[in-house]
Amino acid sequence: KTHNQHIDLLGAIRVFCRIRPINAREKTIAQQKPQTKVPAVLPANEATLGGDPDTCAVPSKDKNFPCDACFGPRTSQAEVFEQVEPLVQSCVDGFNVCVFAYGQTGSGKSYTMFGPNAGGGAQAESQGIAPRSVYSLFALLNENVRGRPGSQATVSCYGVELYNNQLRDLLAEDPGDQGGKLKIRKDRAGSVCVEGVRTETVTDAKAALALMATMQSKRVVAATKMNAESSRSHFVYCLLIESTSAELKARVKGKLTLVDLAGSEKVDQSGVTGQGLKEAVAINQSLTALGDVISALTSKAKFVPYRNNILTQLMQDSIGGNAKTLMFINVSPSSDAVAETVNSLQYGTRVK
Ligand code: ADP
Repeated sequence: KTHNQHIDLLGAIRVFCRIRPINAREKTIAQQKPQTKVPAVLPANEATLGGDPDTCAVPSKDKNFPCDACFGPRTSQAEVFEQVEPLVQSCVDGFNVCVFAYGQTGSGKSYTMFGPNAGGGAQAESQGIAPRSVYSLFALLNENVRGRPGSQATVSCYGVELYNNQLRDLLAEDPGDQGGKLKIRKDRAGSVCVEGVRTETVTDAKAALALMATMQSKRVVAATKMNAESSRSHFVYCLLIESTSAELKARVKGKLTLVDLAGSEKVDQSGVTGQGLKEAVAINQSLTALGDVISALTSKAKFVPYRNNILTQLMQDSIGGNAKTLMFINVSPSSDAVAETVNSLQYGTRVK
């Protein structure tokens, strides 16, 4: 597959919905109340679902959520990645690509983007989009660029966390020690760069994955605790690809940005104080800003409010314009999550 097949998607935002499998706790709830059917809210194209009718939501006629693809609980990581992989080629061809996951805590964002346990020590088949993209990227470069005389490719990466509206450099010795030193700038070509962030060159997939693991371990809520606790920060992993080809006599620059957003659940702010409140307000502001950018792009508004938040400033060159953007809406199949599921699907389908 070449990027030409996807060229029509320039500037458009595609939306994929993914419903994770039901877990033991939710199964118990479902057994105790067999009369309550799990949520009657699913995207319109249920044909692609492959869901289990016993453990998964039943599509309802009154609520339709159009999206470009919908993956049910039985869809494997490999099947999901098949739909994402052409975008890796696009990065090699010089495009900016952004893949991000939106949804409530526990809905499978991190599983989709990285794999179980934030990708740490995951079996090959359960690896998520980030490690698979890294392997695919180096395979493409080795095949198409590096073998040719006069052609070469460099890959570098950085990772930042956005926590309480402050950027933290996840490759710094102590990411907490920077006190807002990182600044977002745009270069003359309009590319976003994070001034002061540690960027490392990586020569192979293994090195890139090792750095990804380092970043995960330096997040405010470290990877090992992430399943139990809600993720209160956004994680942005960025791969920069630069290649020169003898044939084209040109330098090609592409960028792959992978974002695991903080949990989108509504926090009851009346009961939260101190740090919890600060976190909730910051998350709400940034996700609202992202939603506003998406709405502006979709409605082809003249003004796109990128500058409203650090998150949208960071994503500015990879969402809209000449970029290719893919949004995952991750949802839980459980009946006690219906309200959040509806919220997430509504957020995602603002795009359509
Ligand atoms: P989030 O990042 O949205 O908070 P997680 O990715 O941590 O959610 O997922 C919550 C739990 O569900 C984890 O234990 C994860 O491994 C599991 N899980 C999520 N999606 C899937 C899936 N498609 N298949 C199997 N397990 C999943």
